[in-house]
Amino acid sequence: MRFLSTVDGSLDSLQRVNLLGVPLDCTTSFRAGTRFGPHSIRFYSEALESYSPMLDADLEDFSIGDLGDLPLPPGGLSRSLRMVEEAVASLYSCDDNRMVIMGGEHLLTLPVVSALVKRWPNLVVLQLDAHLDLRSDYEGEKLSHATVMYHVHNLLQPESLFQVGIRSGTRDEFARAREIQPGAPFGLKEFPLVLERIGDRPCYLSLDLDVVDPGFLPGTGAPEPGGITSQELFEAISLVSKLNLVGCDVVELSPPCDPTGASSLLAAKAVRELLLIMGMKAS
Ligand code: MN
Ligand code: MN
Repeated sequence: MRFLSTVDGSLDSLQRVNLLGVPLDCTTSFRAGTRFGPHSIRFYSEALESYSPMLDADLEDFSIGDLGDLPLPPGGLSRSLRMVEEAVASLYSCDDNRMVIMGGEHLLTLPVVSALVKRWPNLVVLQLDAHLDLRSDYEGEKLSHATVMYHVHNLLQPESLFQVGIRSGTRDEFARAREIQPGAPFGLKEFPLVLERIGDRPCYLSLDLDVVDPGFLPGTGAPEPGGITSQELFEAISLVSKLNLVGCDVVELSPPCDPTGASSLLAAKAVRELLLIMGMKAS
């Protein structure tokens, strides 16, 4: 089934659970293409059933609104980030609303978290990613998908960022990661411990698809060998469903890097599971 129809990016059709495309593609460092992510995920969602056996839930059980894609100004990074923050703020006009964002590059998580911490000051961010993204700047630029978690961390209270699946970063980034998360870096084996530390605090999941091994998901700008399998990703998502999730994003899909469409299909399935989890949280 195809997720939902594409509308013009207005927030008029707001539901309890909302799907929003954010085709941000400004700072991708190696291979661009994330702007095509939301379109490709919608297209490949047609190949999926609306029912998830893993969650025993069906998209038809919930009213889910597709808000379309935010009409970001090409190349206008600071305006784009402002638009994302404003859209997310209005999306949470009701505390019970939930959302899944389809990227787009990882930098979009910064304005999202910036909006969410105003509502939940004790917000936790759980990041699944191959990369730490903890540089303070990348080639002189402060705002980049390679620096996003440095800035996100600065918005959060202590011990509120958890990074799982990491296998790439500079020596300085790893030192910083260990400083802010005792016991890091975390693999899937440590996932139960991470979930325990998060507890019932409001949690935002940021899923950078390159956490998955490039053998399963080659369609991403900065693939990193040695990642988790697609099955492990879904097992992780099912564990995350136990958290007090208030929203999530699925970022860094770059459809031009995988003409077979397998990466977009995997992303679409992750989005389906997350929509269902959001549906269960909102109802
Ligand atoms: Mn990454
Ligand atoms: Mn990332």
